[in-house]
Amino acid sequence: MNDVLMHTYPPQTVTFVRGQGTELFDDTGKRYLDFLAGIAVVGLGHSHPAVADAISEQSRILLHVSNLFGTTIGPEVAATLDRLIATTPGRVFFCNSGAEANECAIKLARKWGGHGRFAVVSAYGSFHGRTLATLHATGQPQKHEAFQPLPEGFRHVPWLDIDAVDAAVDPTSVAAVLLEPVQGEGGVMPATTEYFQAVRRLCDERNVLFMVDEVQTGLGRTGRWFGFQHFGVQPDVITMAKALGNGVPIGACWARAEVADAFEPGDHATTFGGQPLATSAARAVLAVMEEEDVPARAVAAGARLTKALEAVDGVTAVRGLGLLLAAELSAPIAKQVAADALTAGLVVNAVNDRALRLAPPLLVTDDEVDEAVAILATVLQAQPVAPEGRR
Ligand code: PLP
Repeated sequence: MNDVLMHTYPPQTVTFVRGQGTELFDDTGKRYLDFLAGIAVVGLGHSHPAVADAISEQSRILLHVSNLFGTTIGPEVAATLDRLIATTPGRVFFCNSGAEANECAIKLARKWGGHGRFAVVSAYGSFHGRTLATLHATGQPQKHEAFQPLPEGFRHVPWLDIDAVDAAVDPTSVAAVLLEPVQGEGGVMPATTEYFQAVRRLCDERNVLFMVDEVQTGLGRTGRWFGFQHFGVQPDVITMAKALGNGVPIGACWARAEVADAFEPGDHATTFGGQPLATSAARAVLAVMEEEDVPARAVAAGARLTKALEAVDGVTAVRGLGLLLAAELSAPIAKQVAADALTAGLVVNAVNDRALRLAPPLLVTDDEVDEAVAILATVLQAQPVAPEGRR
């Protein structure tokens, strides 16, 4: 039956039909613990009642009117985001995905830059999306090959190398630097305070925008509302998506007001962006996130998960921030371990050959953390002894 779908994803071994909190159930009724959360999407867990109520109520009131007319919920959500970002006042453009949020940022940088200043500098190992422009911003040349020619105006620098940023940011041609606070798809590689602050200084000196991609890190995931808040900097542009709708597609691009004002009516648009259905989900998500203080929950659960993982035989290191973590393994067996964990009832993901990514819902309980680590320990224990041996 799945052959009616394009072959963009590897063959899928499990079909999920239901979810509740951190639990998922497949089409045979088997239970799983979801320590991936739809890749950092369902921050509040599956089927959260507040989100379910919000979208079902809104579906009986008003789903969509187009951006030719005003709505009430979008501006409310934008004001909440602006408050949580807590830097200078900004404005928000709503869209439907992370890639679209970054497209908006890239277009804004070009409009703001003017006079031939259109290039965007991003890092090797980054991931910014699959549209042609965000694919080129993505610092993974192997993903570019089949899709040439890509839009021009993108340069890549080694991750955490400030001298490389210095060399790449030519103020006559560069409009922006675009970085993730933690490279998620790139292996869960956090930035540092020193690096983000140095990039901020460089951008200030050369009048270039500092744009931060918070699509995976945003909204509590790292233990702060936004990942950049770990590093004591104020970005000019911030993009987000995944967790904002807890599974209802919505993305957002925030920019400080003077930058946002480079856009005039007609410069950018999307049919569905900011419509009442998606923003009603986001409004409910943000209300629960504030009520539950999800950044604090991510700090506490992240610390428990880190400590437990560090004690597992076969795990050599744990890195990341809050509840966006990677467990580095003593051998390049991450894909096999993720597959075996799935069979054992635990959803994690091999973010590269040696590392498993763990990003459970932010409301995960201590018992669920302990159960997940016990499953992983059993799965690792059952692996054939790796050539390097266990830790
Ligand atoms: N930016 C980052 C940091 C991401 O992790 C992702 C998706 O994984 C994207 C952008 C693209 O988001 P989407 O898949 O919603 O287009």
